[in-house]
Amino acid sequence: MVVESAEVLRDFPDAATLRRDFPALTQSVHGHPLAYLDNAATTQKPEAVIRAEGEYYRRDNANVHRGVHTLSERATAEFEAARAAVARFIGAAEADEIVFTRGTTEAINLAANAWGGANLGAGDEILITELEHHSNIVPWQLIAARSGAKLVVAPIDEDGNVPLEDFSERLNSRTRIAAFGHVSNALGSVNPVAEMTRLAHAAGALVLVDGAQAVGHLPVDVGGIDCDFYAFSGHKMYATMGIGGLYIRAGIAADMPPWQGGGEMIRSVSFENTLYAEPPHRFEAGTPNVAGAVGLKAAIAYLDNLGMARLAAGEDETLEYALEQLRSVQGLNLVGRPAERVGAISFTIDGIHPHDLGTLLDHAGVAIRTGHHCAQPVMEHYHIPATARASLGLYSTTGEIDQLVAALNEARKVFSP
Ligand code: PMP
Repeated sequence: MVVESAEVLRDFPDAATLRRDFPALTQSVHGHPLAYLDNAATTQKPEAVIRAEGEYYRRDNANVHRGVHTLSERATAEFEAARAAVARFIGAAEADEIVFTRGTTEAINLAANAWGGANLGAGDEILITELEHHSNIVPWQLIAARSGAKLVVAPIDEDGNVPLEDFSERLNSRTRIAAFGHVSNALGSVNPVAEMTRLAHAAGALVLVDGAQAVGHLPVDVGGIDCDFYAFSGHKMYATMGIGGLYIRAGIAADMPPWQGGGEMIRSVSFENTLYAEPPHRFEAGTPNVAGAVGLKAAIAYLDNLGMARLAAGEDETLEYALEQLRSVQGLNLVGRPAERVGAISFTIDGIHPHDLGTLLDHAGVAIRTGHHCAQPVMEHYHIPATARASLGLYSTTGEIDQLVAALNEARKVFSP
């Protein structure tokens, strides 16, 4: 759905070839080849990322920005090179617009606390949508409770889209920030983020986009979206856990106070008057995950080499195949029919609780996720407690989909022999 063209995919390695770059994918589970369809939770890591982090620890490990010795200088150079790589990858104008965090959750908490803490007050409104992951709900609830601001929610329709007129209707002169996902982890819906940003800006609000489910699947261009904040996690784009970031548009960060205090984030400290470092360091208190940043840079190099547009087109073909095959399973209900979808497919099967389904599938070597996917309001919208979710990565094959569908049909036999 994103890019449709055989031309785009000419010479693109097929998923079966790409799998060879990912050591974890070669294993068997319960005697079956692993079909890893839980990529929305986390992606597997290519050898290039694992090697880059290993080499960093074998050769360059030191603390950053502190030492004048060679290893510290090397570690600092690698850390800052990773920042520049991230900036370029997501279309930021400057490397200093990227703050490293543990991931999306920490990035949104940073924005809510540092920006929200200084800019929100009683009577102000924060607009989110019904589609959000808990990470883009709870930090705003916390800052709303502290500041007296009000959380306003734009609804989704039956298909799992955010209707723009409903979103628009909830914007007004009191809206200080609109925070919404780029791609829903529960349904795979792709939001028209550039259009939503334009609407929010026209109302005078800033915009935060939760890009956790987008960065590994789509070409992301924060300049094109024109958002003010963009949050993402490295582990959902083939890097390791514990590294991610927050893009903060130049000019906005300069007026934001720190949200955590400690080393690295200061210019000078005295008991009378502590001066803070300039962004992005102002928001990076303490020793950062340098190895994670090095791995993230390697993941970006891996993705750049494939080309995000081509990767998206390849994944889209597999996604269409998966939707078609899943529709053939009797008693299977797809949850949500987003106008544009990336990565994830949620479903239920009549008469089988999603958790039982997850266990049965695991015994067939198929890893999917079951539960509310940290998006309980979405479950509530559909009046269900949980779904089963299959989610794809760049290495997902039609063979894995076939394995999933065969396992679903077997599971149905267990429950209705
Ligand atoms: N937002 C979305 C849409 C997500 O899918 C996730 C992870 N499931 C998060 C935020 C939180 O990401 P992390 O746990 O890496 O901080």
